[in-house]
Amino acid sequence: MNFPVTDTSHTLAEYRTRFGYQALEKALSMTPTDVTKEVAAAGLLGHGGAAFPAGRKWGVVKLGDGEPHYVCMNADEGEPGTFKDRWLMECVPHMALEGLIIGSYALEGRHAFIYIRGEFDLAHRRMAESIEEAYAAGLLGENILGTGYSLDVVLYRGAGSYVCGEASAMLASLEGKKGWPRNRPPRLTVKGLYQKPTVVNNVETLANVPVILRLGSAEFRKVGTAKSPGTQMISISGHIAKPGVYEVEYGYSWTKFIYEDCGGMQNGKALKCIIPGGVSTKLLSASAIEGVTLDHNSAVAAGSQVGSGGMIAIAEGTCMVRLAAVIQRFYHHESCGQCTPCRQGMGWMERILNRIVAGGGRPEDIDQLYKISEANDGTTICSLGDSAGYACSAILDHYREEFEYYITNGRSMYDGNLTVEDP
Ligand code: SF4
Repeated sequence: MNFPVTDTSHTLAEYRTRFGYQALEKALSMTPTDVTKEVAAAGLLGHGGAAFPAGRKWGVVKLGDGEPHYVCMNADEGEPGTFKDRWLMECVPHMALEGLIIGSYALEGRHAFIYIRGEFDLAHRRMAESIEEAYAAGLLGENILGTGYSLDVVLYRGAGSYVCGEASAMLASLEGKKGWPRNRPPRLTVKGLYQKPTVVNNVETLANVPVILRLGSAEFRKVGTAKSPGTQMISISGHIAKPGVYEVEYGYSWTKFIYEDCGGMQNGKALKCIIPGGVSTKLLSASAIEGVTLDHNSAVAAGSQVGSGGMIAIAEGTCMVRLAAVIQRFYHHESCGQCTPCRQGMGWMERILNRIVAGGGRPEDIDQLYKISEANDGTTICSLGDSAGYACSAILDHYREEFEYYITNGRSMYDGNLTVEDP
């Protein structure tokens, strides 16, 4: 997207100086079907974690069926380590809003929704201001830019539930119900919000749409790889020298990104491992990322995923047993409780890990953690249950000896010589 950020880049005036809303004008001169075809031809992938092609998702909705259609921007960014959507909404909210309006036009929607994470204060204010500016400029509301197309946008603030980032839970929450995920089918594109066809797209996904419409899909495809076109925003945190939000072309080297762009690890420490795309993605050891490029195929081949773009860099000297306990506490706290393997399993895993950390580990604990992780695999409504199991088993796979040491000695192998802040 390559949008320069300034103190005023969130305003409509500045957005307009950088081609703002030119893509909308172009889109409104096309048929809705042609807009979807252009997005599909660009190969735009979802940037929320699943990497599902956005054009294909839009194309499923049947136009002209007399039903209301909804587009919902998923701005409930809650995956630990991920803060690139928040940054986008704080710095360039109009870019995502323009994408939402174009997406709604492509789906013949009359109402669109933005579900924003409750904790995001500045991002919420900036999105609210950008919506106000868009209404005042005739970019929202009745008869947009005199084309006869009308759209209203509702900005809805969540209440701090991680699981509401899951699309079906988000729509339930929007309807005023408990934010509980539900089984599919029916798909949300068939029965979504208020039982009507609904497309849920991530903030960064929608922010790419104006770029595609303005430049054309062929130009968009010139960046990135054939199977992962375009760029990915990465928020990197942890023990990294230069944490922050970066935009990286798909196909870029992970080692170059970490050691050159992000300056390597703090205080010259060695990299132990990374969690590539939020804690729900499997960690990769420092040696495993050699030769891996930042794109979906390469990440999967290495045994993980690009995920939500929330990378956490972990330095040598970090106790992985404590890290596992911290992650498990998060999952247990956020489980909505509908599925027994998730509701009970998360609690069992947290208690076992806490007992190990407290010095009361038992030799059978490691096998027990694996068993609980496996019991969650594919047996729950949403992917929280699976992800929690994967996160724990990936840490066990790579750092089993740290768990064994902790259980045998009642303390971490790093106690007494911790050189970096414990996670
Ligand atoms: Fe709720 Fe967990 Fe089941 Fe997801 S897997 S629906 S969070 S209980």
